[in-house]
Amino acid sequence: MWWALLGVAAGYLVPVALRALLRRGVGAAVLLCAWGAMVSLIVTALALPVLAELLRRCWLSAGPVDSSRVDTAAAAVSAVIVVVAAVRGGWRFGHLSRMRHRLHGKHFEMNWLLTGQRPRPGTVVWLPATEPLAYSLAGQPPLVVATTGLYRVFDDATVSAVLAHEHAHTARRHHLFVSLADTVASGLGWLPVMRQSPSLVRTLVELDADAHAARAHGHHRLLQALRTMQHTPAPPAALGIAGECTQLRMARLSAQSCGGAGRLGGAAARLGAGLVLGVPALLSLSAVIAVVSCTAA
Ligand SMILES: [Zn+2]
Repeated sequence: MWWALLGVAAGYLVPVALRALLRRGVGAAVLLCAWGAMVSLIVTALALPVLAELLRRCWLSAGPVDSSRVDTAAAAVSAVIVVVAAVRGGWRFGHLSRMRHRLHGKHFEMNWLLTGQRPRPGTVVWLPATEPLAYSLAGQPPLVVATTGLYRVFDDATVSAVLAHEHAHTARRHHLFVSLADTVASGLGWLPVMRQSPSLVRTLVELDADAHAARAHGHHRLLQALRTMQHTPAPPAALGIAGECTQLRMARLSAQSCGGAGRLGGAAARLGAGLVLGVPALLSLSAVIAVVSCTAA
């Protein structure tokens, strides 16, 4: 039970700590890894009372079980939290996946109509429109979408910087992070760390994509693009060049800060996403095994 209480306490402290580190200029990729690690640890802590009770009742005790009332009550509360989180979070994840799939399908068809070819990984879908727009979509293959209007307001090098920002979103699995953040917010939104995850993670993925693009194309080009396009819209299920915390992003680009944007940063961020996906899956598997062995005993 104490682990669960520690998890709840961490749920209040972690967002404060992550935002403080963000303000101090810590790399976005490192913070994405830290977010993933903390979210998976907190989910584990919340599930521990019910898992421990199942373990005690099913595997460790052949005779009558001597659980205290407090442990039993904690296990019941933990079970309710886990089941509600799984149902609400699972529904949200499925809803977002369907929305992304529909949007990706429309752009896939549009590319067929415009070029007569299937888009391949790394393809940019160029839309003939005068308004400068750029955004990326998750799917198979992930797509970067841009309008020809970009060339109306930027030179070739700046357009390349804008496209690099969007390619960074797809290559560094930023859409998955955003989906996971929305999922934990739906499932465990009563905890501040989960409730604030969508806004925090959207800010971090934009900073990470900026840093990645700036390393290859220079800070000033991306800064110029961001200033010009900061009010341009993108579809709800896409990640555009303009997004969360534009002022913070422009401040970082002006300060030429791009810590953690390289391969190591990318690996750290992927580790974070892996933890958020892997730990709940492992916990679910343990719970299923425990329940099945309990029923069979
Ligand atoms: Zn972006």
